[in-house]
Amino acid sequence: CIAISFIDNSGKDLIIDGWFHERGVLWPGQAMSLKVKKVLDHYRTDFQDLLVFESENHGTVLVLDGVIQVTTRDEFSYQEMIAHIPLFAHPNPKRVLVIGGGDGGVLREVARHTGVEEIIECEIDEGVIIASKKYLPSLAIGYDDPRVSVKIMDGAKYMEENQSSFDVIITDSSDPIGPASVLFETPFYNAMYKSLREGGIVCTQGECMWLHLNLIRPLIDSISQTFSSVEYAYTTMPTYPSGQIGFIIATKGRNSCKVPEREMTDVVQKELQYYTPELHKAAFVLPAFAQRAIFGD
Ligand code: SAM
Repeated sequence: CIAISFIDNSGKDLIIDGWFHERGVLWPGQAMSLKVKKVLDHYRTDFQDLLVFESENHGTVLVLDGVIQVTTRDEFSYQEMIAHIPLFAHPNPKRVLVIGGGDGGVLREVARHTGVEEIIECEIDEGVIIASKKYLPSLAIGYDDPRVSVKIMDGAKYMEENQSSFDVIITDSSDPIGPASVLFETPFYNAMYKSLREGGIVCTQGECMWLHLNLIRPLIDSISQTFSSVEYAYTTMPTYPSGQIGFIIATKGRNSCKVPEREMTDVVQKELQYYTPELHKAAFVLPAFAQRAIFGD
């Protein structure tokens, strides 16, 4: 597992001289450091090492296996984009599945879509949900929506049992190490395809174009054989490695997701801090090196 060599249960190796350091094999030679005001909790769940701390300038921070999952300062960028790109690209989403996303932030965003009738979250680690409800209420508020139901199990297994069920599937996973490694492999995408209704869209955490082109390109090549369209978009995220994170957006019986299919009400737009219809389109415009490396043109 990514952090075994530098995590201990007292958090000594994660926090040195009052600074949390995020070091990992997926971003060799670089680290993100945040100044710690107060450690709120640190323990092992059934699946991973969980640390929550109050930072000096980035609000509350959730860390799993040594990797930053959320800071309350910038989480809205990720949650809004991973949720609203597929949801606004779909003309009439009714049933939505969220895989991972234990902090509740993606649920909060999906719940803004009044036409959605059912939201199912499948999270492998109940410990993350419990911690979020305790320390991250502005994200865990997503669990309060009456349309939300929660399954505590592996996302791949859940989809095997639920075929042709969903209009949109959002995979808000941690990095491809530990319990989330299966979520970055072709069989998982095939399972998502089968679990989609016709016209459905999947949007998954797609790692970082500055660091992971060697992972993104083969995955996109492989799933392009199954899905009708496969695209890549990204958002800025100051506290994720290299300040950027991407999304793989793939469809079943539908073309490009680059343009929103539905208009947003002024009420919803006023609640959002990052996503706009203009940014939806712009998110698919990649720098030349990434466009070439991912799509070969
Ligand atoms: N948005 C953040 C990010 O990208 O770093 C946070 C993601 S969220 C906290 C990731 C969640 O995925 C974790 O709570 C983890 O337990 C869950 N997860 C990992 N593997 C999973 C699996 N196979 N099935 C369902 N959930 C899984």
